[in-house]
Amino acid sequence: MFKSELCKLCGTCLTGCQWMDVTQEQAIIWQGTMLRGESTPVLEQCITCYACNERCPQDANPFDLHCELQEKYQSLVPQQSVAGMEAYYAFAGELRNLPQADRVLSACMYEKSEPALIEGKLYDLPRVGGKPFFCWGLFSHMGASTVQRKHAQEFVDRLAMTGAKEVVCFHVDCYSMLAATIPDFGIQVPFRPIHLAEYLVEKLTADKTRVKPLNLAIAYQRPCASRHTPEIEPKIDELFALTGARRVEREYDREKALCCTSVKLMYNKGNDVADREENILDAKKAGAQCIVYFCPVCRQMLEDIAAKHGLPMVFLGDLARMAIGEIPTPKMVSI
Ligand code: SF4
Ligand code: SF4
Repeated sequence: MFKSELCKLCGTCLTGCQWMDVTQEQAIIWQGTMLRGESTPVLEQCITCYACNERCPQDANPFDLHCELQEKYQSLVPQQSVAGMEAYYAFAGELRNLPQADRVLSACMYEKSEPALIEGKLYDLPRVGGKPFFCWGLFSHMGASTVQRKHAQEFVDRLAMTGAKEVVCFHVDCYSMLAATIPDFGIQVPFRPIHLAEYLVEKLTADKTRVKPLNLAIAYQRPCASRHTPEIEPKIDELFALTGARRVEREYDREKALCCTSVKLMYNKGNDVADREENILDAKKAGAQCIVYFCPVCRQMLEDIAAKHGLPMVFLGDLARMAIGEIPTPKMVSI
């Protein structure tokens, strides 16, 4: 949620944006205009990478203001299309055979679309998934935060019906919704959301004798939703360290991570291929042997270009499975 009382009108949110070219003077004018609830070109140019939420020195969440106004002025998606998407994801049926456990895994929509990523011993806990457990994080990319707000309580309630005290979030969107966005809406989350990296660190630490360091130089493709919970980033590094993956120093990482451009492509906002190429070349130049991704959408967007440059894409969780010898390490260039 945008915290207008914290905004000092410094313009950093817009001057630091990787997707628009804005002077500080212009940034301050536009931010002031948006603070009054009025439209600016930002609403059309913003590709919803969420990076300005992390960049704002006051933690005012400027992207959340853009999202609110993108909805008000329908800058990204017409209301009818949002309503169609909402109807597609909404679940009105009855929940049956829900697991009852202190800890469950929430697989969101990925249980069906990416089952191979949630296999093996590390994921040996009761799980829920599919439409009833869709987290609605996607709707920030559509300028439709009221849809998120509308469904947030039912998402929390359905997870709570498992009796879980802890919910391991397979996907970063679910974690950021449960750890940041939903509490921001004023909705109480009666269990502890656990980030996948935190969970895997716990599993590998408990079974350290099985871990064989991978000795890999990796480039990390940070997902957009990680901008809402930057405090979890040390856990990602801890997971890399435990698996023997060395995160290369490169231009497009950490706060300067480059969006995979899925939204840029979806809304036809310029040459997304050139951006992806630049991102992958940056990883290669830094000496990476592969690209580690967290969000499957990042993989879908980057895998062809990464393959062209000889860089396989590896799921974050698969690093852990590789380190315990459960799956083979893909062929990659040696360092
Ligand atoms: S939202 Fe944050 S970064 Fe943007 S103008 Fe306000 S204080 Fe500065
Ligand atoms: S969300 Fe991303 S694209 Fe939009 S203004 Fe913020 S930094 Fe720029």
